[in-house]
Amino acid sequence: MKIKTALAALLTGLPATASWAQTLPALVNKEVPNLVETYKGLHTHPELSHHEQSTAALLAGELRKAGYTVTEHVGKYPDGSQAHGIVAILENGPGKRLLIRTDLDALPVIEETGLSYASQVKTKNASGQDVGVMHACGHDVHITTMIGTARALAALKKQWHGTIMLIGQPSEEVVDGASAMLADHLYERFGTPDLAVALHDTNTRAAGTVAVTSGAALAAVSSIDVTLRGVGSHGARPQESKDPVVMAGEFIVQLQTIVSRQEDPHDPTVVTIGSIHGGSKRNLIPDEVKLELTARAFSDKAMQIVIDGVKRTAQGVALAAGVPADRAPIIGFQESSPVTYNDPALTARVRASLVTALGAQNVFDEEPVTVSEDFGQFGLEGHKIPTVMFWLGAMNPAKFAAARQEGKLLPGLHNSRFQPDPEPTLRTGVTAMTSVALDLLRK
Ligand SMILES: [Zn+2]
Ligand SMILES: [Zn+2]
Repeated sequence: MKIKTALAALLTGLPATASWAQTLPALVNKEVPNLVETYKGLHTHPELSHHEQSTAALLAGELRKAGYTVTEHVGKYPDGSQAHGIVAILENGPGKRLLIRTDLDALPVIEETGLSYASQVKTKNASGQDVGVMHACGHDVHITTMIGTARALAALKKQWHGTIMLIGQPSEEVVDGASAMLADHLYERFGTPDLAVALHDTNTRAAGTVAVTSGAALAAVSSIDVTLRGVGSHGARPQESKDPVVMAGEFIVQLQTIVSRQEDPHDPTVVTIGSIHGGSKRNLIPDEVKLELTARAFSDKAMQIVIDGVKRTAQGVALAAGVPADRAPIIGFQESSPVTYNDPALTARVRASLVTALGAQNVFDEEPVTVSEDFGQFGLEGHKIPTVMFWLGAMNPAKFAAARQEGKLLPGLHNSRFQPDPEPTLRTGVTAMTSVALDLLRK
């Protein structure tokens, strides 16, 4: 048994027993009631991407109180506007520099959980429409977990050495927050990390458990706008038109062959048309139809096939309809982000830390998912800095088990009924992230 343990330690690069394993649970227990209150406050007051002012200020204040050197308003968007990014540094002698990231933003969703601390916030989105605001992706869980982790690492300074670099990243939901912080010379100003870690909550696991994927973990995303332009006319005189509504119908059907006929079945891809708008009245053939697409892929090659396919299909449909050259389709690109790649060697170390902290029965292996993230951008081009994002189970264990019995999951990310169970989720999040940091920076 002894040999086996020593061998396991050798293989994972971990000591057979971690000295903090006894002290950490008590430390976390002490923090949890306060963290639950902080979480509920954040949940009641969500802010949309690019508008995370109060959220960022709260996090900055808490990290300062925990003893970190905090810089606010880090990040510049391409239009020159300032982002609400936060960098908090805790130096503790020579050693590795570990980046830990939380995101800050919420979603334009009207909350329907019925919780006492549910968000009632209403605002206008960038297009001026009235929208609700909700932490429907659980970034409030991530922020609160970071506060707890920051406190624990400050209290356990004797157990590690190196530098902790906490990042409060704005605007994850439109995937331009990480790039805004990097464009504002994040690493030149605050040092380049050796390793980067983040977590994301999930409805696919019960609170108390975590899950890890090695390699490509979350898909790359490209957001594509397609405007099919035709020639409008009276609905009763179609011969005078080039009908973009018919073209849109053909385009939508034809687009399905990108995934089914052009992509490698071993390299999964998704193309979804989430929005289509055209026309104003039944007897008018409109001038154009606008479509909004999202594409997901796990390789650059697969994503390029989608992008080329969308362009070619739009052009081909217009050509077949006899649309004049000056009315050719317009293809525009909105937010995009590369694959979130979990460095296999770092993933193995993180997984071992999680097993030590939570027990092997509470650490699962997860398949890659087709949702996307911009956390991977902190790893720089070509995965220069090893990064890992792991999943934090967030569902009430009893409700999760009951739903599972019926072959169902509880409402998930971006759903108006997404409802993390604060106490066990935060307890596990802080324990998990603190343990990972202590292991990666251990003395
Ligand atoms: Zn999200
Ligand atoms: Zn999210």
